[in-house]
Amino acid sequence: MSAASVTGKFDIIIVGAGFAGMYMLYKAREVGLSALVLETAGGVGGTWFWNRYPGARCDVESMQYSYSFCEELQQEWQWSERYASQPEILNYANHVAHKFNLFRDIRFNSRVSSAIFHEGERVWQLSTDDGEHYYAKWCVMATGCLSAAQRPNIPGLGTFKGEIYHTGNWPRQPIDLAGRNIGAIGTGSSGIQVIPELAKLAKHLYVFQRTPNFSIPARNQPMDSAYEAEWKQSYAERRTAARKMPAGILSHIGTNSALAVSPEDRLAEYERRWAAGGTGFTAAYSDLLKYEDANSTAAEFVRKKIREVVTDPAVANLLAPVNHPIGSKRICADTDYFATFNRQNVTLVDLRANPLQEVSEHGLTAGTQLYELDTLVLATGFDAITGALSKIDMVGRQALSLKEKWQNGPNTYLGLMTSGFPNLFIVTGPGSPSVLTNVIVAIEDNVKWIADCLAYLKTRGAETIEATASAEEGWMEHVGQAAEGTLYIKAKSWYLGVNVPGKPVVFMPYVGGVPTYQKICEEVAADGYRGFTIEVHTEGLRTR
Ligand code: NAP
Repeated sequence: MSAASVTGKFDIIIVGAGFAGMYMLYKAREVGLSALVLETAGGVGGTWFWNRYPGARCDVESMQYSYSFCEELQQEWQWSERYASQPEILNYANHVAHKFNLFRDIRFNSRVSSAIFHEGERVWQLSTDDGEHYYAKWCVMATGCLSAAQRPNIPGLGTFKGEIYHTGNWPRQPIDLAGRNIGAIGTGSSGIQVIPELAKLAKHLYVFQRTPNFSIPARNQPMDSAYEAEWKQSYAERRTAARKMPAGILSHIGTNSALAVSPEDRLAEYERRWAAGGTGFTAAYSDLLKYEDANSTAAEFVRKKIREVVTDPAVANLLAPVNHPIGSKRICADTDYFATFNRQNVTLVDLRANPLQEVSEHGLTAGTQLYELDTLVLATGFDAITGALSKIDMVGRQALSLKEKWQNGPNTYLGLMTSGFPNLFIVTGPGSPSVLTNVIVAIEDNVKWIADCLAYLKTRGAETIEATASAEEGWMEHVGQAAEGTLYIKAKSWYLGVNVPGKPVVFMPYVGGVPTYQKICEEVAADGYRGFTIEVHTEGLRTR
């Protein structure tokens, strides 16, 4: 490394200024480390900075989708709706950044292109697209699970003369979609949120659907002040209780098997949850994600609801998902999604019967028909969980590249570190509960664990920490076995990476749930960081 090229030296560099990176910066300061955050975007907020599409909204209730680490913060912030919209969440992220003076240590518009570990100096070199180099002993990848937008490889996409917008990379400046002929590809959570909004604006909206998804009405509403007050009276206790739930969300989780109750009771329970709204629907019974016969009771209930809402039976049939168990793909929450297909200006195009052929100058051809379009909206998802990491050229010990190491799927120990990459931590990495939870809970728990670990290493004058290959192997085996016992592996979902051509098909998140995972992480730490090798520099000698 040439000293002349050094543009910054820090104890710790954090990549990403979303909710993970912001909290990591706050905790790194507490540990007494000099810290820098490098962020591609022009502001904080991560996924909420980029996903500005009309209708973007969180599907975890606002009272829970927020930081819990500061009582003053959670008391002072006021959410205006049951489920917060993207602009409100982005305001919250900015409020947090101001309150804790985070901006001064964040460098925006700085995309990290490579991260290289210099073994001799035991230092990480991070280089950005604009040719800057930064050095740090510790490095934390807070790059997010849903931050690498996935553009489909459709022939002719580049020839389209109209505008193309990806929901995961929506422009910052306002765009006028009124009176346009719009095509929307993708009917996952993003598509299900944006489609009703596009329909209100469009002259005509064509929805190109390959696979229908299960969606539950969100029943969003203005924040009920009594509900908010109830939460704020006992916020800390409620946050603790939420952490005892598998998804880190305080909710009513059914403990019975769906098959152990009478059909009448089951129907009443599904009706109650449908009326209450939100993704808690699949928590009605304990075995909905374990057994197909239990699952099909819930799936059939939702298909029936879709058929009740959608007036054209042929369209209703196309919208009713039959190719995967309910909840095995991320369940969606919507506002008037299915009713949108009753509008005169909305057409559902079934890409299974009429495969997408090409995009040309003036539109899109599916089957033999050309649909003339002014605007194309891609709600085609993300290279999830590993996508943002694999965009960075990461090199560990002995010139080991992360791409090579993960060519058959990501390997980590606890989702927090990967062997061969000393001093490099990952927040909500593959092999952690991450996307199966209220991700802010997962983030806070991971960041706190990393900060405690850094404090421990600092006290002992440690030079490096690294996951051992055997601990990593054992953890990945456990992660794989846990998923095998569930219906999650029955769907072609982004959890498995099947949405990205060439990506290894491996179930990436840990399904064990927040309490189990957190207990394991805490035990590992209490046991002197079992499964990690810690190198300490003593009188010129390095000991392990
Ligand atoms: P997604 O769930 O991966 O959905 C992508 C959609 O695009 C699918 O319908 C997919 O069809 C379709 N698609 C992709 N490539 C295509 C192609 N070449 N031709 C035709 N169709 C294609 O992505 P997402 O909707 O962005 O959601 C990703 C995740 O982000 C969610 O599961 C959720 O965790 C999170 N999210 C959350 C919220 C919220 O909090 N409310 C909102 C948005 C997103 P196939 O299924 O056939 O592949």
